[in-house]
Amino acid sequence: MSSSLLLVHCHLHLSGRFWHITDLHLDPSYHLAPDPTKVCSSSKGAAASHAGPFGDFLCDSPFALIQSAFAHMAPLTQPQDFIIWTGDSPPHVPADELSTDTVIQVISNMTQTIRQHFPNLTVYPALGNHDYWPQVPFMSSSTNAVYKAAARLWKPWLQTEALLTLSQGGFYSQLVKPGLRVLSLNTILYYGPNEATKNMTDPAGQFEWLERTLEKAARSLEKVYIIAHVPVGYLPFARSTPALRESHNERLVAIFRDHSDVIAGHFYGHTHRDSFMVLMDRHGKPVNSLFVSPAVTPIKHVLEPYSNNPAFRAYLYNTEDFAVLDIWQYYLNLTEANEEQRSSWRLEYIMTEAFGLADLRPPGLLRLALSFGAPRSEAFAVYFAHYMVAYDLSVFLLCLCIPGK
Ligand SMILES: [Zn+2]
Ligand SMILES: [Zn+2]
Repeated sequence: MSSSLLLVHCHLHLSGRFWHITDLHLDPSYHLAPDPTKVCSSSKGAAASHAGPFGDFLCDSPFALIQSAFAHMAPLTQPQDFIIWTGDSPPHVPADELSTDTVIQVISNMTQTIRQHFPNLTVYPALGNHDYWPQVPFMSSSTNAVYKAAARLWKPWLQTEALLTLSQGGFYSQLVKPGLRVLSLNTILYYGPNEATKNMTDPAGQFEWLERTLEKAARSLEKVYIIAHVPVGYLPFARSTPALRESHNERLVAIFRDHSDVIAGHFYGHTHRDSFMVLMDRHGKPVNSLFVSPAVTPIKHVLEPYSNNPAFRAYLYNTEDFAVLDIWQYYLNLTEANEEQRSSWRLEYIMTEAFGLADLRPPGLLRLALSFGAPRSEAFAVYFAHYMVAYDLSVFLLCLCIPGK
């Protein structure tokens, strides 16, 4: 047996895997209509002129797109895998086209669809900002109904203690396997447009619960994966702008810093684009790796220059310290799928190979992030292509040619 084969064997032996799906945004109104402005409610009257069986870049996901993603993913899974699902099931449509009941129906539909495709895997969900109604001002009317519905729908996956905090505050923790715990945070409590929690220091008592749960995990010698919909930290497309309300973001960052040795990774959705962050301690040392997964929905606003192709991903982790070792990013070329009338989901990239990294631990990720600042950084060009899930590289070249951008 050659030494390279031995190495491969050792690598597989030490790594586990889990899947990340996010921002499904099912648009039940999607259909191929002769009038392109009538294809989907989520285009809000804009002409979806490239609409095909798997969607359009101005629309949220048709059911066929979501099904095709799961149908491709299912044969790739192994019984020991698990799935994280970071929220946002309903479509981007005007508030009067939805209600608390229809939002819950969409979450229920997506839950059943996931269960049908992955009957033997445990799924760890988190709630997104679209999983409420109405969204502005948020939650005050639908919060309890959504929490209670989620606790009912996700019973096959979650245990009694997790279901209790989920039904009360939209968050929970659960042991995945000996030594590894998932903490699903409800970051919608800290989301800027959420008027209901604006003046609260600790909405739903989640900060207190988070600190207590992280301390308990440390005492039990467990490692923790943080999963949530809206990410902590700055948005990738806006300079120095946090995704969460400033004061709540600061408090969350402080808690994560204090407990960074227990946290083995952070996994978020919401931006719909592929990005990563590195959490530094108070002395500037990189202590945690944070990953934001691209969406299944391809939707963009009619005025946005670019979008993302539909995507889902797998993470490989070290089964001893639970550090994230790699990402296998899958995608569907939407334009090609519509032209060919068939969905060929493919591997888009493997993160360590794309960037020449040994693994995705914080020091290596920080070195990579710092390299993006170099003039005409090749690594940044690769990162930006993946950020859009290979949407259209001419957008990037256009940005490079505009002085000052
Ligand atoms: Zn979303
Ligand atoms: Zn969102």
